[in-house]
Amino acid sequence: MKVGIDLGTTYSSVAYFDKNIGKPVVIKNHYGHSGTPSILCMNNGEVFYGEEAKELQEFGEDNIAAFYKRNMGDESYKLVLEGKMYSAEDLSTIFLKKLIGEAEEQIGEKITDAVITVPAYFDNYQRSATKRAGERAGLKVLRTINEPTAAAIAFGLDKLFGNNIYLVYDLGGGTFDVTIVNISSDGIKVIGTDGDHQLGGKDWDDKLADYVAGLFSDEFGFNILEEQESLYELLLKCENAKKELSEKEKTSISISSGGEKGKYVITLEVFNAITDSLMERTRQLCEELLRKCNMDWFDIDGVLLVGGSTRMTMVHSFVKEMSKKDPVFGVNVDEAVALGAAIQCEIDSHDDEPDYFFSRKTAGIPTLGAAGIVDVTAHALGRLQVKADRSRFFNDVMIKENTPIPCSVTKPTLLNARNCREGETDVYVLQGANDFPLDNTVLEKHVVSGIEISGRKEIVVDITYHYDRDGIVKVEAMQQDNQKKLDVRCEMLPNDLSWMLESPDVLKSAALPVTVVICIDTSASMNGCLNQAKRAAKKLVSTLDMSCTNVAVISFETKVSVLLNPTKDMNRINTTINRLTIGGGTEEPMTTAYHLLQNYATERFIVILTDGVWCNSDRALQVSDSCKKDGIEILAMGIGSAEESFLRQLSTIDDMNVLTDVSSMVSAFGNIGQEIVSRSSTGLRGLF
Ligand code: AMP
Repeated sequence: MKVGIDLGTTYSSVAYFDKNIGKPVVIKNHYGHSGTPSILCMNNGEVFYGEEAKELQEFGEDNIAAFYKRNMGDESYKLVLEGKMYSAEDLSTIFLKKLIGEAEEQIGEKITDAVITVPAYFDNYQRSATKRAGERAGLKVLRTINEPTAAAIAFGLDKLFGNNIYLVYDLGGGTFDVTIVNISSDGIKVIGTDGDHQLGGKDWDDKLADYVAGLFSDEFGFNILEEQESLYELLLKCENAKKELSEKEKTSISISSGGEKGKYVITLEVFNAITDSLMERTRQLCEELLRKCNMDWFDIDGVLLVGGSTRMTMVHSFVKEMSKKDPVFGVNVDEAVALGAAIQCEIDSHDDEPDYFFSRKTAGIPTLGAAGIVDVTAHALGRLQVKADRSRFFNDVMIKENTPIPCSVTKPTLLNARNCREGETDVYVLQGANDFPLDNTVLEKHVVSGIEISGRKEIVVDITYHYDRDGIVKVEAMQQDNQKKLDVRCEMLPNDLSWMLESPDVLKSAALPVTVVICIDTSASMNGCLNQAKRAAKKLVSTLDMSCTNVAVISFETKVSVLLNPTKDMNRINTTINRLTIGGGTEEPMTTAYHLLQNYATERFIVILTDGVWCNSDRALQVSDSCKKDGIEILAMGIGSAEESFLRQLSTIDDMNVLTDVSSMVSAFGNIGQEIVSRSSTGLRGLF
């Protein structure tokens, strides 16, 4: 069975399309509810979810995961539950497995495929992480679609007769989305979308909790927010009070903490006043979107309310005051997103039968027109480029925000062949439309490789951004003069991107010269693997950009010998490496390498290959400290009985392995070479 899943911040729902009635239906959970709290609780190795996890949270249980969707795609976010670390993607995977398992039990059918909804403003990482979570939960994820679009689909299914423009005001538990859609006999076309994923019902709960804590503190002189258990209890009571205020004019909250008990009456008027700034924020986002779409409130035929938080009466009056129209209550605010996803799922299942929906229409079952659904990009996407006058880097927008998807844009890039090291150039993907690169989110670094350089001075590479129907961007590249499709791989973003603020030409000169000293252990114990060590050293050299790199070779055994002073001559370097021979004991090579580098005002690296313990290793560590002070990078690699902790102390680059085995030595040295190239190139390869 195929389903639509609304994977919400606070609640999640599953729906399927019932072919008999031509409508989507929500699969209720064991409790008969449409929505299941998106909460997990780990308890002695057992995983609780949904209502049970929410109850455990209420009882002050630790090891609770809630609101993790707010951190989706954020690699730095890790939640520790019972001593184990989880990313938001891991937590979503576990939750989805449970959610699907329960839905399968309820309908008695296996669920295989799904359309999963995401907030419209989710970026690449967040969408990919959501998709992966679905796949890791065992589902074939047909696609991700935007939550407000899904809601509009559910709402619009039986309103395809006219030609109306709606603003979808979607205020959920943790997120706010605003979307303008055109619903007509041609289908559903999204015109524009915007949102804030740090704004949702939870913020209303928090405001109320702050207010009540303030009253409690006035009365008893201490802050209940500082006590974890009281905080959970208070937040739950505030959420309930908030819901009650959707039905009546006042309610009360009782809270006990530290042996004291307070009871506070909360009127709707007070609640509205303390949360007014949150409502204003939604107005700002609505009006910004109208401006971006060149519209004003007069162009809007109705405001469609979606998301549990739109039950708050303040939302109704606010929307009415803002839009001068009564809000439209066309859909069940909790179910609309899952229902829309289920419809999309049904449409996707009949992709290859263009008449399917037409024939259903003639049979009297309301359904979408042949034109179907057109969604848009929530963010502009650009790439890092150099201004024509070479004064600075800028964000060259490839795809504007609110462009219908899927879409592709290709732009040529002029490259300076001399600077395409190893036939490569970098593409930095920026999200946003600001001209200054760092005013946007730097999403990804892609490396385009395989550019043919021979005999060319300038090369034009066509760079294409594809925005697929899941809202995920892919980069492709083609060399124009030979029509060769180039390989594109994604690389880790450098930590320091401040160079994007510098002048490209200053970077150019700063990026070039590098000196690398290769120190090979030739002590007796290396006897069995010296040939492999030679191969590894040559591999390292082959990965370097020899147009700007000098390489020196040192061997160390009982004595330390500088076999080759820094040179760019590949033949001499390789010949020297080939002639390495085995000697006696192991003197430390650091002092010699450090002295050798004293005269070079370049980027400097010391690369070491060793298999054991050195004489005078204390002195080596002292020299290593001096190197660090002078900005010399040390990459030490050990095999055999080499000591990991010593090599780590010696190295200046923390995130690299310092141990390898004989069979992986060559590839490990290839990686070291790449590390040197990327560390000594501060800008965009190829562009200048
Ligand atoms: P959603 O993510 O769309 O399921 O929205 C869940 C949010 O809606 C949570 O913050 C709930 O506290 C809130 N909510 C649910 N029912 C009500 C209600 N009757 N009045 C106010 N807020 C509600």
